[in-house]
Amino acid sequence: MGKVRNNYRKTEFLCPECMSTLKTNEYFVKECSGDRIKEWEKAFKKYRKMNISERTLYLETISNKDKFTDLYNKWEIHGHMNCAYSNRIYDIIPNNSVLIVDPLQIKRIEKDIGIKIDLNKLDEESYFWYDGKTYFIEEGPGRHKIKVEWVQLPYDG
Ligand SMILES: [Zn+2]
Repeated sequence: MGKVRNNYRKTEFLCPECMSTLKTNEYFVKECSGDRIKEWEKAFKKYRKMNISERTLYLETISNKDKFTDLYNKWEIHGHMNCAYSNRIYDIIPNNSVLIVDPLQIKRIEKDIGIKIDLNKLDEESYFWYDGKTYFIEEGPGRHKIKVEWVQLPYDG
């Protein structure tokens, strides 16, 4: 028997990034507790071993496929999962920061598709197709849309 779960957890109390519960810190800022990260990682390890048709079936059982494949993708790239979500982040993005494409993800995509990507042509809506193992430029069986990741960096200039 696992832990008894509260089955009417309200979505506003869940982290929008990883669906963990949010806790409120001493500044009344909501932060991710990360309490679902272990569950995600367990599912990712299972998913990694599946072949494409098993993956397609597995994804059918998940209510938010895009979220799952998105998080799986990050987990695969970074080798671990953590979540630093806080609802304060949107207030404190400094003016002197720059939004760049996640260099790890781009390197990985370029390796898979065998083409150097022109970063100037990417925007926040840009995406590739991903089957859980390899990135592609075009849609295909077992492939899911994966948005390009953007990261905020401080910028002195
Ligand atoms: Zn989270």
